[in-house]
Amino acid sequence: MIVTKTIARTRQVIGQARTEGKTIGCVPTMGGLHEGHLALIRRCRDECDFAVVTVFVNPTQFAPTEDLESYPHTFEADRAACEKIGVDLIFAPADDQMYPGENLSWVNVEKISAHLCGGSRPHFFRGVCTVVAKLFNIIAPDIAYFGQKDAQQLAVIRRMVADLNFPVEIRSCPTVRESDGLALSSRNAYLDPDQRRQAVCLNQALQHAQQLVESGVTKSTDIIAAMKGIIDKQSLGRIDYISIVDNDLLQPIERIDRPAIIAVAVHFGSARLIDNIVIEPAVRKS
Ligand code: AMP
Repeated sequence: MIVTKTIARTRQVIGQARTEGKTIGCVPTMGGLHEGHLALIRRCRDECDFAVVTVFVNPTQFAPTEDLESYPHTFEADRAACEKIGVDLIFAPADDQMYPGENLSWVNVEKISAHLCGGSRPHFFRGVCTVVAKLFNIIAPDIAYFGQKDAQQLAVIRRMVADLNFPVEIRSCPTVRESDGLALSSRNAYLDPDQRRQAVCLNQALQHAQQLVESGVTKSTDIIAAMKGIIDKQSLGRIDYISIVDNDLLQPIERIDRPAIIAVAVHFGSARLIDNIVIEPAVRKS
């Protein structure tokens, strides 16, 4: 496994793989790798000839008040995990490789970025899209892998790739969870034992929402109120949002009468946790 720090060397290594006729797969990450990341990485290795993992904590997607400084850095463990899986290349640039000066060029995906996490983190998707566009231009992957855990990010990236004609196929992987249902996240490391116990309420609220939809409840406000009731029972959680949006442009919908995403974000101490489920309403026979 090769580890590169510079764009020039990365292009050289990948250029070589490409001249050997290999397909290039890429998994962008911010490090702190857990089983959720590793599932994406294994799939990339299985489906592509040359698997690239990027490890870069992207400063432009953090607001000044957010956790850039405390974000987990576990590079040696990440490197060992990638090596064990059979990754071909880790690209782990320093900030000044990716942003050598003031960055004046940004990629914005309108509308899809507006709600959910984009509502509470206004510059977040601008930072995500810009860094992913830069990584795609550096690596030129044939296929790139993203987690359904970050459903809005996935939708925004898919749209960016379509609108800007990036020659890359986006593949998504299901959310990997702890045995009690909590979605794996690098930010789970911030939780103390009480917060960790209570954090399972995100998944419980989503499971309850799914049951409500299956039992015929479609009105978004009813489903959201029931979810809020479950999360509010946990004394340490502070809800950021609970939203029901369509599965295309991620706009809020009043009723679940088409494919939808139910998404939730809750603060536990310094950790802001997100989770979601995709709902495919049953086609009703007339
Ligand atoms: P991050 O390092 O948090 O930027 O995440 C890198 C990639 O891993 C993104 O595509 C995430 O959606 C994905 N990911 C993070 N957590 C999970 C999880 N629990 N299950 C599946 N994919 C995940």
